Amino acid sequence: MQQRLFSAAKPTGELHLGNYLGALKNWVALQSQYECIYAIADYHALTVEIDPKELEQNTINLACDLLALGIDPKKSIFFRQSDVPEHTELSWIFACLTPVSELTRMTQYKDLVQEKKGNANAGLLTYPVLQAADILLYRATHVPVGEDQLQHLELSRIIARKFNNRYGDFFPEVNPVLSETVRVMSLDNPEGKMSKSHGAKSYIALRDKPDVITQKIGKAVTDSNHNETSLSGGHNLLTLFKYFGSAERYQYFEQAFKLKKISYAELKKELTEALISFLEPVQKRQAYYDAHHDEVRTILREGAVRARGIAQENSALIRKRIGLGPRS
Ligand code: ADP
Repeated sequence: MQQRLFSAAKPTGELHLGNYLGALKNWVALQSQYECIYAIADYHALTVEIDPKELEQNTINLACDLLALGIDPKKSIFFRQSDVPEHTELSWIFACLTPVSELTRMTQYKDLVQEKKGNANAGLLTYPVLQAADILLYRATHVPVGEDQLQHLELSRIIARKFNNRYGDFFPEVNPVLSETVRVMSLDNPEGKMSKSHGAKSYIALRDKPDVITQKIGKAVTDSNHNETSLSGGHNLLTLFKYFGSAERYQYFEQAFKLKKISYAELKKELTEALISFLEPVQKRQAYYDAHHDEVRTILREGAVRARGIAQENSALIRKRIGLGPRS
């Protein structure tokens, strides 16, 4: 029997190449190795202030994008998190097992508290508890993670152990699936990562049209000192070329970069072409799903039925263990 893998994406804005190389490319590939359960994490999206109309729009757009990238509802369970309310129920049960100190020491939480100058909502604190519930509700054994999520995954393991110690073995050990991790840097400030929160100039969105891609790559920051650290704009463009350009041309540019003879104009031109041709078929499929929202909603609904099947079964077993018993 295949091992079960869980992952989720937040519908908080448009997807970019950082999301693709850092996470979603792996999602597609992992479908042939695991029994995959992929969620659109709309409960998680509520930790940021988000307009209801925008949340609705982001959710359907993200579903279209993921299907366009190759998430296959015949192979994987693909659904919307809030269609399975057992996620939040288990999150409450887990919150009662989690020491507050474990949550306040999370790096991501500490960064957010600083960013929000003390105005962070409680959802940001308990976010990793909901993540633990997302994974463990399905008794998943594998989670694909970038390095930024390793700490949260460790917390899921701690919570599972606490539950098992108190109520008897139930949850499996969760293991990270560490694929080749690519950290894509921002195009306009390569010291930060390519991110929605750094604005549209920092990223190439999966929905960017050829003229926008040409403009953004044209304006991308490069450097004259050819420094090989990942914080160099030139190196970042080279990294992007590695994943989207031809191997032969990558070798040529990499060699020229090492010899400090690279022409960034040439690299930018070929990178632009490579990105446009990679995104063209993806955008064609996006356009198809954009025009067929009913079909996408049906896919999500059918996914939710399958997810609820597993969730309700596990939830009943969990309720029994902790003394809540069956729902009357
Ligand atoms: P954003 O920073 O744009 O808000 P998220 O934090 O929602 O993106 O990230 C979603 C997923 O995409 C995470 O798994 C994260 O590791 C990955 N990811 C985001 N930005 C990058 C990046 N610049 N390089 C590599 N992976 C990234």
